[in-house]
Amino acid sequence: MTAELALAWGLRLEDLYSSEGLAHVDATFVARLRRSDAALAQRLLEARRQAAAEPPAEGASGARSDAALLTELGPHVDAFVARLFGIVDDLATLREAHRTLDPLYEVKRQFVKRQAAKLPPAELAGFDAGAALREIESRLGRPFEELAFARAVLAWQRIEADETADAGEREAARARLALALRYCAWAVASEEGRRRHAGGVLFRQPAKVDPQRLLGHAREHDEHGVRVFTIDPQRLRRREGFALTDDGTDLRGALDEANYCIWCHEQGKDSCSKGLKEKPGPTGEAAWKRSPFGVNLAGCPLEERISEFHLLKTQGHAIAALAMITVDNPMLAATGHRICNDCMKACIYQKQTPVDIPQAETRTLKDVLELPWGFEIYSLLTRWNPLNLRRPVPRPDSGYRVLVAGMGPAGFTLAHHLMNEGHGVVGIDGLKIEPLDEALSGVRADGSRVPFEPVHDVRTLYEPLGERVMAGFGGVAEYGITVRWNKNFLKLVRLLLVRRERFSLVGGVRFGSTLDVDDALALGFDHVALAMGAGRPTTLDIPNGLARGVRTASDFLMALQLTGAARVDSLANMQLRLPVVVIGGGLTAIDTATESLAYYTVQVEKFLARHEALAARYLAETP
Ligand code: SF4
Repeated sequence: MTAELALAWGLRLEDLYSSEGLAHVDATFVARLRRSDAALAQRLLEARRQAAAEPPAEGASGARSDAALLTELGPHVDAFVARLFGIVDDLATLREAHRTLDPLYEVKRQFVKRQAAKLPPAELAGFDAGAALREIESRLGRPFEELAFARAVLAWQRIEADETADAGEREAARARLALALRYCAWAVASEEGRRRHAGGVLFRQPAKVDPQRLLGHAREHDEHGVRVFTIDPQRLRRREGFALTDDGTDLRGALDEANYCIWCHEQGKDSCSKGLKEKPGPTGEAAWKRSPFGVNLAGCPLEERISEFHLLKTQGHAIAALAMITVDNPMLAATGHRICNDCMKACIYQKQTPVDIPQAETRTLKDVLELPWGFEIYSLLTRWNPLNLRRPVPRPDSGYRVLVAGMGPAGFTLAHHLMNEGHGVVGIDGLKIEPLDEALSGVRADGSRVPFEPVHDVRTLYEPLGERVMAGFGGVAEYGITVRWNKNFLKLVRLLLVRRERFSLVGGVRFGSTLDVDDALALGFDHVALAMGAGRPTTLDIPNGLARGVRTASDFLMALQLTGAARVDSLANMQLRLPVVVIGGGLTAIDTATESLAYYTVQVEKFLARHEALAARYLAETP
């Protein structure tokens, strides 16, 4: 049965895309908030009024003065959006999934970190971890599982602390806690313990960061006088073809990060968002602190409210956490895990493992996307966002039209903000942009508009990366990123834009040749925005740089992505022979090395399959 979207309060899908409809959504939210918490509603309206009148304010403590208000709104945002989309029960289940994991982080913080990790090594002398594990499992009544263990620890602590409980029971609880403590210490401190619980979160403790040795599991040896680096075999991850290689963390992992965060916004010290500064000089100016590699620790370039979204996530307010991110980073489907980490570099934890913010961010998005109508919820938050004090709904039509040249991350993000500021946008890209189903996008091949269907299950938008046809939208995120990142997110971003009436997308138009500034002005555009930086080819000034068999790495990667040569059904002729020597050690070099290895196998298999098909057909006929 096809799911029907029945929005609350008489709203229709098209209302979520019109100025009047979005104003109605916002008014309904405020009216309902007034009924449930009049004082909070009043604070929200006052904060909006101030935000409209002034630039974002810093409180006396240096904290953003509106953070408390925004986090207090979290439960109301969740409740409202759930009711709007008719997913009250689904969201309650998701919140419960968050809450259920609470004991894990409580035990990790209070028991593992504060007690077990501090146990003197002498306490572990002669410790029999196998026997301890058997004893714990017999108490749990099941094979060891972190959450069950954490719950048991909390239960034993309660009994031990209960002065009214039976003395024998308290003594038994005390003994179990002592055993659990030593087991935790072993799991944290010993190589074997860490290996036994690798992949879990309970015993994973932050490590000291050595800037000169960031790859902790790299191994080094000498081979004929050459220093060779390999990886700890235990850490090797085998790769099969061109399917997605990294699914990112799950809810457990994301909450582990959000709980590791100490929510520095409360002290105005959320350097992940605002950057880390040196002490001000005589002029009062403070320079950015620099990493040991000389990189400015400026934090998230979007000043995303990371600390605040972490707090909401730990409270189980999944939609509000996403709304918090979306205020400053509406295109988060194209950021986060595997894309950016400036925030992490500027995290307050400079000497130990920083909070893995990108993982938490991307999981926060996925948790909402995986709800019924999840894509529509994310999409709505990019146009109506009650936590956006300055611009909760798009501004009225300004009458300006802007041409954005380049549909990579800069171009599509700019297009979004221009539309929310009230401007009309035409986005062009030199690549051919493959059409999207009009029932999904609301746009026919000739550019005319038709009603579109809401997306009930986001998975219907996804394709296996190994079979996915390059769609032409997304610039460097499409042709420059390997299958470490889920490129299906580009379809989400594209839908966020193309469904809007203020936006048109045209592929196969190269700015500077097909169209130039004069053409753009003659066509009636008021502004032209150039967002084409990353596509510039790199030509190295070295002798024989273009000799047969020599390729620049970026050219190789682009050719591999753009031609789709790795797809089974692609006829693209892209030949690669091993061994390949990659010169360089940066991201592009590493990508080139991994993609060469993956592509070589696919190429040989494709060649063999073709040979066998042709041989079966023609050799049989040869006398
Ligand atoms: S991510 Fe790091 S800097 Fe940011 S709020 Fe959390 S602990 Fe503080």
